Amino acid sequence: LFLGHVDFLKGVVAMDGLPPADRVEFCLAGRSNVGKSSLINALTGRKALARTSNTPGRTQEVNFFTLGESHYMVDLPGYGFAEAPVKVVAKWQALLKDYLAGRANLRRVFLLIDGRHGAKEVDEEIMSVLDRAAVPFQTVLTKIDKPKKGELDKALERTRAVLARHPTAYPEIVLTSSEKGEGIETLRAIIAGLE
Ligand code: GDP
Repeated sequence: LFLGHVDFLKGVVAMDGLPPADRVEFCLAGRSNVGKSSLINALTGRKALARTSNTPGRTQEVNFFTLGESHYMVDLPGYGFAEAPVKVVAKWQALLKDYLAGRANLRRVFLLIDGRHGAKEVDEEIMSVLDRAAVPFQTVLTKIDKPKKGELDKALERTRAVLARHPTAYPEIVLTSSEKGEGIETLRAIIAGLE
């Protein structure tokens, strides 16, 4: 078991619903369809813990999970889908800002980015929100089984160039494929090492 038994705790739509800040907390964030639900399921070994969906932006809840006795895992709503990017990003940013404000137990945000494309403008906007809130974040490239080697290298290069502009970013990028199980142990080890 990864950090012990995993359970869904609650979905929060307003900031007054946050659980007490009594555990080590980390978040997963990313554009809709980036593969966040699949990654959560791969990390926890629970097939349907986070609902995978092809309906981008379906949920605007902040979902809290407990990992054993020690951690909260937080699934932030996906952002940046094509229908209303500006509006949705604005809403997402407002929610994120509220959540980040004074959440003392939040150790790291894992920012998921599609391994086929690398960081896009909308991802960089979120990075700026994280910079301003001084919340350290680490980039996780997803679906790395999909791009050809050359494409992946380009996506990495683009992502590194963007990260260089963001002081709160961890330089190390984690490469993952939920489908193939790649990088999952690495990410678990990073999470287990959060204090
Ligand atoms: P979410 O919207 O970010 O939660 O994304 P999902 O986890 O629902 O994934 C979106 C789509 O990408 C689904 O069709 C998944 O099957 C697919 N997907 C997710 N992770 C991977 C992966 O590692 N490899 C491949 N090839 N497809 C993936």
